[in-house]
Amino acid sequence: MQVPFVDLKKQYNAIKGEIDDSILDVIENTAFIGGRYVNKFEEMYAEYCNAKHCIGVGNGTDSIFVALKALNIGVGDEVIVPANTFVATSEAVSMAGARVVFIDCDPTTYNLNIELLPKLITKKTKCVIPVHLYGQPVEMERVRDIANQYQLHIIQDCAQAHGAKINNNYCINYGDILCYSFYPGKNLGAYGDAGAIVTNDDEIAIKARMLSNHGRISKYDHEVEGINSRLDGIQAAILLVKLKYINDWVEKRRKNASLYAEKLKNLNHVKIPYSTNLLYHVYHLYVIRSDSRNELQKYLQNNGISTGIHYPLALPNLKAYKYLNHSYDDFPVASKIQEEILSLPMFPELTENQICYVTDKIKEFYSK
Ligand SMILES: *Cc1c(COP(=O)(O)O)cnc(C)c1O
Repeated sequence: MQVPFVDLKKQYNAIKGEIDDSILDVIENTAFIGGRYVNKFEEMYAEYCNAKHCIGVGNGTDSIFVALKALNIGVGDEVIVPANTFVATSEAVSMAGARVVFIDCDPTTYNLNIELLPKLITKKTKCVIPVHLYGQPVEMERVRDIANQYQLHIIQDCAQAHGAKINNNYCINYGDILCYSFYPGKNLGAYGDAGAIVTNDDEIAIKARMLSNHGRISKYDHEVEGINSRLDGIQAAILLVKLKYINDWVEKRRKNASLYAEKLKNLNHVKIPYSTNLLYHVYHLYVIRSDSRNELQKYLQNNGISTGIHYPLALPNLKAYKYLNHSYDDFPVASKIQEEILSLPMFPELTENQICYVTDKIKEFYSK
């Protein structure tokens, strides 16, 4: 049996008619940049997040950059970023001119270790960027309390967490700005690059829209220099179709995760993802830990099962951050789990048969 890591074609085939029609509509209406599809998507996505404003941008990385700029964060400021996340989170901080300060991860959730947060805050710290990594929500109440105490802004990197909830609350209740990516492989994916900024703050919304569109408020009225990072009409139209299905797709991911958990829970060598009723995990990725990760990955590959590693090197251990002069001991948890994490196939259309095949092969590997 072949089990792909993700299967975007299967999802497209299920909604092909609607998607194809929506793309043709955009062309017929020549609504390529801005226009009715972008406006409609922004309205619907803000509603989905239970927030006041959504500003479509070119991609998720830009959404974080624009969010930082909208909060006036830049040269001379420090921003706290998890050691274990996709590089875009810290890259955006550097793009804005601020200094990246990494924080180690929690050994249970793999999200930022909230206990360490107060120790990393200096007079220069302006913002913390919790990442709901793999779709696992950060315990934002604790982060919010600390941020309030030290007067820090909170930008949540929700690139992997469309629809995630904390104590039954929407993410927007826990910070200034949410940043989203609609990269094709994300839980809500466009057919190219796309992203969004979500906020309840009117002033931040105006600034973010201005900054992502050449710093202008009308056609040639440039208040400041911004960038060109806008959401395409075609991507917005595709996202509008897909938004109708996102809750159903997330439920399917959660069902798949439950089945994985049930099949793997008694296996000593494998640690399944942390799960609690208080955090609504949306399983962008299903990440297990294994004490013989590389051999297991190879064994699964030889049996037709594709897996991934998110991420093979914690950010402070990358060449790109050599200038910070960190050693593995500075981030003991992130540096340890980079050797053990393995992302199993996860997408809504994954079948029960496929999941059982994967878990059978994992058990077979450890029984040898
Ligand atoms: C994908 C991703 C981003 C960046 O999104 P792009 O749309 O690819 O720029 C940022 N942060 C995290 C955690 C991501 O997974």
